[in-house]
Amino acid sequence: MIRVTENLRKIRNLLAETAENAGRSRDSVKLLAVSKKQPISAIVEAASAGQRDFGENQVQEGIDKITEIADPRITWHFIGHLQTNKTRAVAEHFAWVHSVDRLKTARRLSDQRPAELGDLNVCIQVNVDEEASKSGVSFGEARELAAAIVELPRLRLRGLMCLPAVRSDHEAQRRPFRRLRELGDDLRDAGIPVDTLSMGMSDDFRAAIVEGSTIVRIGTAVFGPRS
Ligand SMILES: *Cc1c(COP(=O)(O)O)cnc(C)c1O
Repeated sequence: MIRVTENLRKIRNLLAETAENAGRSRDSVKLLAVSKKQPISAIVEAASAGQRDFGENQVQEGIDKITEIADPRITWHFIGHLQTNKTRAVAEHFAWVHSVDRLKTARRLSDQRPAELGDLNVCIQVNVDEEASKSGVSFGEARELAAAIVELPRLRLRGLMCLPAVRSDHEAQRRPFRRLRELGDDLRDAGIPVDTLSMGMSDDFRAAIVEGSTIVRIGTAVFGPRS
């Protein structure tokens, strides 16, 4: 049990140090603990250690955990591929969706978001390396989708998310993150006020922070290997 608490302490320090070395403030990067395929006990321990944001990538698994843990201090983020027939469940249980990549999905989330829950925070997932195995819009499509989403009620477009191809070299890891940051700059120049770059995981969060990440999504380094 000590392990998750200890991992969290180390990662928070590492995130703060990386941000400061990049000339950023230590609290400008939020840690999203990716709890997919991890037991409830590990999430409860992380919450006791002060962790407040958790990410799940399967709708039913996420809702089961949200319902059972029922901790109002926790903010739940959906980070997986979202099929249109599961939008209602997500709109009713999560506070964030990082993986919007179709206007149809965004429209359904907007229609199905219960008003009393407040706006659903959304990011557009960009398939930065144009991989067939991954979801996400192209760089070219992102701007049009962003412009359409900001018009939808009960959604708040927060920014952009990516899941780049695996690269081991730090400089190579920075490239797709830099392009996502530049796309965020373009959106702001076009009058679309985004404030979030959801980028960086256990193996590439340093490169992501150097390039301006505001949310790093970290699973293995917090919880250990998934079951
Ligand atoms: C699993 C997952 C992560 C976390 O990956 P780790 O390598 O375990 O840190 C981050 N983002 C998404 C979208 C994921 O599915």
